[in-house]
This record gives sequence, C-alpha cells and structure tokens, in this order.
Amino acid sequence: MSIGFIGLGIMGSAMAANLLKAGFKLTVWNRSEDKCRPLAAAGADLARSPRAVAEASEIVFAMMATPEAAAAVRDGDSGILAGLRPGAGYVDMSTVDAETSQESARLVHQRGALFLEAPVAGSRKPAEDATLTIMAAGDRDLYDLSLPAMEKMGKKIFYLGNTGNAARMKLANNLVMGGMLTALSEGVALAAGSDLDIAQFLEVLDSGALSNPMFRLKGEMIARNGEFPTAFPLKHMQKDLRLALRLAEAVGQPLFATAIVNELFKKALAQGLGDADFAAVSRVIR
Ligand code: NAP
Repeated sequence: MSIGFIGLGIMGSAMAANLLKAGFKLTVWNRSEDKCRPLAAAGADLARSPRAVAEASEIVFAMMATPEAAAAVRDGDSGILAGLRPGAGYVDMSTVDAETSQESARLVHQRGALFLEAPVAGSRKPAEDATLTIMAAGDRDLYDLSLPAMEKMGKKIFYLGNTGNAARMKLANNLVMGGMLTALSEGVALAAGSDLDIAQFLEVLDSGALSNPMFRLKGEMIARNGEFPTAFPLKHMQKDLRLALRLAEAVGQPLFATAIVNELFKKALAQGLGDADFAAVSRVIR
C-alpha cells in the first residue's frame, strides 16, 4: 500500500519511520525540508508539496502542530485536497478541535475521498516504540483500510464513531494530563520549600494510589529543575488546554481547575518556555 506522511516533527518523524520499517511504500513532506533527510536516507520518497504526497498515495497521514497548521497543509493549490484521488483516504493524526476535523471531513468528502481523525496519546518514546494510543473517528471504511498502518504506530486503537469524537476525547485526555503535571509540580515545590527530601517525596507518591507512568517520567526532571528536554512541547499543551476550554464553553461545562492550569501554561509561554517540555511549567510555580 502506498502511504504518504506529512508533518515530520517530534511525533511524525518517529511514526513515519515505523511505517517505513514495516515495509510500506512511503512518500513524505515537511515544511522544513531538513527533517525529511533521515527518512529519505532510509528509503522514503520526498515530495515537493502536500499535494504531491496525496497524488502519490492511497492513504495520506498528517501530524501537524495546530489546527492552523493542519489547515495550511490541507488547503490551497499545493494542499492535500488538491491531490487527493477519489476513493483515497486522509487520516489527520494532529491534535485539533472537532470543528477543524469536521471541516476536513466535509472538504475531503467533496473530493470523493474518505476522512479519519486519529489523534494520539503517548509522547516521543511511545511514538518511537510504536506503542501509541490512537483515538480514531470518521469514515469506518478508512479506519478498516488504515488499520494495518495504524497498528505499526500504536498498540491500542479505538474507533469512536462520528468525526469530532476523537478530537473531543483527546482534549479531555490532555486536560487531565495538564492538571496532573501541575499538581506534581506544586507537590515538588512544596516538598522543596518545606525542606523535605524531594526524592523521598517522589518515592512516597510512587508507592501508593498516585503512582503513574507520567509522574515517574517527569518527576525527576521537575525535581532537578534544570533542563527540560522536549518530548511534548509546552506550547502544544497550552494549545490543547485552550481547545479543551473552548469545547467546555461550547457544551456549557465548567472546568474550574483547567481554567487555572491554562493560565499557568500561558505564563510559561510568556516566559519563553514554549519549546521546552511541558514539564517546564513547574518553573512558573517553583
Ligand atoms: P512538532 O515537533 O512541533 O511538529 C509539528 C509539525 O507541524 C512539524 O512538522 C512542523 O513543520 C509542522 N508545522 C507547524 N506549523 C506549520 C505550518 N503552518 N505549515 C506547515 N507545517 C507546519 O510537534 P509534535 O510534538 O510532533 O506534535 C504534533 C501534533 O501531535 C500536535 O498536534 C501535538 O499536540 C500532538 N501530540 C504531540 C505529542 C508529543 O508528546 N510531542 C503527543 C501526543 C500528541 P516544521 O518542521 O517545518 O516546523
């Protein structure tokens, strides 16, 4: 099967590499061309535009930073839509809002093609290890068709029904993550400020009901308070909080804690921490 992959950032580059390793014929494009080189060296074809990727592919995957970036590669003369063949598929794995996905579905259907939104949970390492959780929604036929490829990127794959459900599921997931990370940062700050041994604090957390992989992954980084090497860019976490709050507003659901967590992430952005890992929000607290 010929596959296209657009958006070779932290996540996309690792996911595309797994598709290539699995033996799919792969065509790639990225706005900054240098990020295509490792994949080209491993055997992927380079396209000159998102449109050219679509022209060469039965299924096109995209993994873009934001709703605006997803629209930028979708629309226009050199966009995916312009090259999408009738009957072909477009799978957008970016974290976007439900409205962006629904607009993509509408435009893709106009071309006689199929659409699936498929945002993921899991960061740089799960992307490399092909152990992502994938939340898919949209055209069931495309879900079935793209499953063999998605199985080379993720270990747990959900089909959630109508387009928009996966975007909403992903945003609900990420508001929990932002809140947990903030609580961990405040716990570490309080432990440090009260002259407690931070390593012991993390051990206490890990020995009870609060034990979880994210605390184990980020706890020491937050405790050290030095470098925050990026797995999940802080700017993307703030985007997700913003989109979750917008969704909450649309459905009339108050999100008391998330509103405050979002302010912390906005402050971190204003302090120039947008490209650091999202754990760097602890800098605002400590
Ligand atoms: P990233 O490293 O920042 O990569 C973003 C990609 O979007 C890059 O390919 C970038 O191109 C492209 N891009 C941005 N603006 C664009 C524009 N206007 N036109 C064309 N291309 C544009 O982000 P990432 O961490 O891989 O995340 C990608 C998506 O997955 C985001 O929606 C994020 O929220 C979600 N996600 C991330 C993680 C994680 O842990 N990192 C986990 C789950 C979900 P350039 O290379 O040219 O900048």
